[in-house]
Amino acid sequence: MNNGWNLWHGCTKYSEGCANCYVYRQDSRFEKDAQTVYQTKAFYWPIEKDKKGNYKLKAGSIVPTCFTSDFLLEECDKWRDEAWQMIKERSDCTFLFITKRIVRLKKCLPEDWGNGYDNVIIGVTCENQKRADERLPLFNSLPIKHKIIICEPLLEEIDLTNHLNSSIEEVIVGGESGENARLCDFAWVMKLRQNCIEKNIPFTFKQTGARFIKDGKLYLIKRQFQHSQAKKANINTTKS
Ligand code: SF4
Repeated sequence: MNNGWNLWHGCTKYSEGCANCYVYRQDSRFEKDAQTVYQTKAFYWPIEKDKKGNYKLKAGSIVPTCFTSDFLLEECDKWRDEAWQMIKERSDCTFLFITKRIVRLKKCLPEDWGNGYDNVIIGVTCENQKRADERLPLFNSLPIKHKIIICEPLLEEIDLTNHLNSSIEEVIVGGESGENARLCDFAWVMKLRQNCIEKNIPFTFKQTGARFIKDGKLYLIKRQFQHSQAKKANINTTKS
């Protein structure tokens, strides 16, 4: 894993999970408008070479992509073909992007996508039941080699029973961070874990979020402890 490839920046709010988007929070600190979308200086990073002509990005890297935007954002349609070309050129690395706009995937795919590129993992965010029921049937019907589901920020109890199948490689769950973070209840996390155990799908509890409820008690958890507290719960599972 490395720091990732942030090829464009800026986004528009799209669904309930976006209400307290950290991109907006970060940009407002610098009096920037997070809705202004632009290509970053790192756009060509995956194919940059050193003086000896070797790629700077090491073969075998797992590259999280597009973490201050959405890879399928409409405003970025004009740049995406070039991004796909770079992803194809670096078939020795694996690229991961997470989207709420899975409804746009088909029209954003490169011509030679076929059943999916081997080196692309696509994650769909489902923050509540409504978005899970809306996005996952479509996600399940799409030709993608590696699929994961992200329930973050988890805003309510979600039942994924009808959406989990053997093509889903992992479900990742987390609460919301930031000053206005909404509550995340450990019981909701455990419900998703149970869904995954029943379908033999790996489950990861990534972070508690800032306002975490366990057994009816509210815990205010500082940012630096949100990941470690989730890890301490020791509830992650792997495929059996
Ligand atoms: S899709 Fe992601 S980056 Fe875009 S506004 Fe929503 S939370 Fe922020």
